[in-house]
This record gives sequence, structure tokens and C-alpha cells, in this order.
Amino acid sequence: SRAEVAYFGAGPAPLPTPVIEASARAFVNFEDTGLSLAEISHRSPTANKILADAKQALTTLYDIPDDYDIFFMQAGGTGEFSAACQNLVGCWIEQRRRKAVADLGEGKDDEVLARVKKEIENELKVDYLVTGSWSLKASQEATRLLGAKYVNVALDARKSDGNNKFGKIPAETDWKLTPKGSALTYMCDNETVDGVEFPSFPKSLEENDRIVVADMSSNFMSKKLDVSKYGVIFGGAQKNLGITGITVVIIRKSLLGLVPPPTFLHQLSDVLPTSGALPPIMFSFSTIAANNSLYNTLPVFNLYVATLVLQSLVTKFKTVSGQEEVADQKAKLIYDTLDSYPDLYHVVPDKNVRSRMNICVRIIAGKSEGKVTPDDAKEKTFLAGAEKRNLLGLKGHRSVGGIRISNYNAVPVENVQKLVEWLNEFAKSG
Ligand code: PMP
Repeated sequence: SRAEVAYFGAGPAPLPTPVIEASARAFVNFEDTGLSLAEISHRSPTANKILADAKQALTTLYDIPDDYDIFFMQAGGTGEFSAACQNLVGCWIEQRRRKAVADLGEGKDDEVLARVKKEIENELKVDYLVTGSWSLKASQEATRLLGAKYVNVALDARKSDGNNKFGKIPAETDWKLTPKGSALTYMCDNETVDGVEFPSFPKSLEENDRIVVADMSSNFMSKKLDVSKYGVIFGGAQKNLGITGITVVIIRKSLLGLVPPPTFLHQLSDVLPTSGALPPIMFSFSTIAANNSLYNTLPVFNLYVATLVLQSLVTKFKTVSGQEEVADQKAKLIYDTLDSYPDLYHVVPDKNVRSRMNICVRIIAGKSEGKVTPDDAKEKTFLAGAEKRNLLGLKGHRSVGGIRISNYNAVPVENVQKLVEWLNEFAKSG
């Protein structure tokens, strides 16, 4: 039964049991309407209320300022790799176009076009901080859409590691940010595969009016944020928020409505691929925001699950700080246990960037001169023993191997304690 299983999967992740039960009831017969919530129109008052409730709960939990908008999209975190890049490059171009029109006057289309082209060629950059495999994928998508010329990988954290692996965030003084005026600066706040989390908002991103885009798919609603520091925050729902199928976007309102006319973008194709700044209409932030997330059919059932999760956090903690405390305590329990057996358990990332959500660890045969030798056979034994004890979802991502303990919000502390018991027992059994 559900009560007997302790699940630590990296995503889709566990949901609070009362949310699962309420969602199941809503799927069969929503509030005694005789209909499933999945059968109800996304334009109905019911759907509108769910949407308003979700936004209200998000605003309360994160203390989202009035000059920010919230909306929901589809296509997951991956969809946002494309959408964030296309929308913000579009925004950058539209600002330049409007300035050129203001400086040169109406009716000077050729001059405006020539000036904007020149500015694109000389000045356009998107900055990426690559600290793990998800920000790497996002930067690769930017290169696919824009061409390599416009993508500045301001940091590739693998380069600071002797084995070319993720696990560190080098000092900000070593980052190569575009000094001024990049269309966006991208970061993945928590790298799910590599277990690396930014310990705080980077100081250097506070300068030069940077438009910071943060992927918070895997640490959404797990810590207090100063939302005003970000241009865009996004997250796929299937970890801390709900189930697969919706993505939340929190965006500074001043970034909306700056959309270049498609005919203008078409004429730029000799300097910039049109795909670089012209999102498919359902990826257009301005369109989705202007239509209150209802430009096309919103998966209302999926949104409902997220709304229940958010409302349960409001009821329990009022703001996200309470959840942050719990997440920190659970992560500490696990890391303290791992650290007490340094000859057996090796936490992969550096101590100062350890994720509180995804704890990546190798079981090792030995260590010499800082290099560790993973013991694949022991890892298999550990995982088999865990499975026997109903501790599930602990296998590391296929790209990095090892063990990954995902400590999302809905993982109860009792399950963490059960896992800690197994970590201790395994270590003592030698
Ligand atoms: N970003 C992060 C940090 C993720 O963990 C994931 C998925 N695990 C993604 C993006 C991609 O999300 P999706 O599968 O919803 O596209």
C-alpha cells in the first residue's frame, strides 16, 4: 500500500496523499457535479476559480509583487528552454526597433531595419550559466534557435573540474558575463541530475539590469525568494508542484507586450534565424499572459492538482519559509548521515553547492589523492536492499550513475528517517 512505500524518485515525484485522494475524487465526480474535472470546459467559472486560486496561493507563498504576472503553459521545463529564449530575444529586438523608430522617425523602415540588423550583429547576446545537465540543455537549445554566435556560455562548471564533470559552481569572478545589455542571463537554480543548487542569488546578476531567467523545476516552492530579482522564473509541475502537463511561469510585467511584428522579424533572417525570436503562438509569453493562461485549452485537472498542493502549503505554513525549514532539516538529516561514513559514501557535488532537493552520492571502494573509485557492485547491493525495504526511486540518473535521493516537499520526514536507518545499517554491515 501507499503507506508502506517510501518513494524518492526525481520526477515525477511523490504528491501529498490528501492531494492524491482529493484529485482522484475530482477526476471521478468533481464537487458532486456528476462530471469529472477533466470533462469541464477550461472557460467555465469552475476553471477560472481554480486558476485564480492557484495564482492567489502562489502570490501568498512567494510574496509575488504586483508588477509580476503568473501564468501556466504546457510542454514542460523543456518547452521553457525554447520559450524563454525566443520571447526575451524578441523583447530585446522590439526595444531596439522602437528606439530606432523614435530616433529616425516614422516611415523610415529601411533605415530602422538596417540599424536593428547592425545592433543584432554587434550587440545581441544571451548569457548561460551552465552548472549541470539541464542548463547545458537550455544553452544547447539557445544555440539551435539563435546560432552559436549569439550564445555566450558565461560559465561551464565542468571546466573547473579535473574530470570534466558537474559538481561545482566556480567563483563569480571567473564567470564571463556579457558586460552589459544581454537579452537574458539564464541559470538553473537546482540541477536535478547533478545535485547542484545555487546557495543564494549570485551577486553579479544584480548588476547591469540583467534579465535573469531561472529554471526552478526541481526546487520550486522549497525556499524563500526575492522574486523582484528575476525577469522570469519557471518550473515544470511534476516535482514540488503537481503532476506533469503544466509549467508555471512568473514574469516581470515589463517584459510582456514587447513583441516585434513578425514581418519585421522575417526581414532579419540574414542576420538572425527567424526561429530565434518568433515563438510558436502557444509559447508566446505575451499571448498567454494577455489571455490569462487560456489562449488554448489549459489542462485544468493538472492545474487543480497544483492548486491543491499550493493551498495545502498555505494552510500549513502561510509562506514558503516554513516549507524551506522542513526541506533544510530533511536534507541535513541525509547529508549528516552520509558525511559520517566518508570512506563509504561520497557526496558528488562540493559542500557549498549541495542541492537540498536531489542528493547525489556514490558508494565508493576507496579514495586516493581526492579521486574516488565508485563501487558499482556495492551500489547494486545498496539499491536491492533499499527496494526490499520499500525505499524506492533511488537509482541515479542514467547519465551519471550512482545513487540519487530526491527530497522533494511531499517526501515525509518519516520516510527520510527510514532511509537514514538503511544508510546506517548498510554502512555498519561493512
Ligand atoms: N529543468 C529541470 C531542472 C528538470 O529537472 C527537468 C526535468 N527533470 C527539466 C527542466 C525538463 O522538464 P520536462 O521534462 O518537464 O520538460
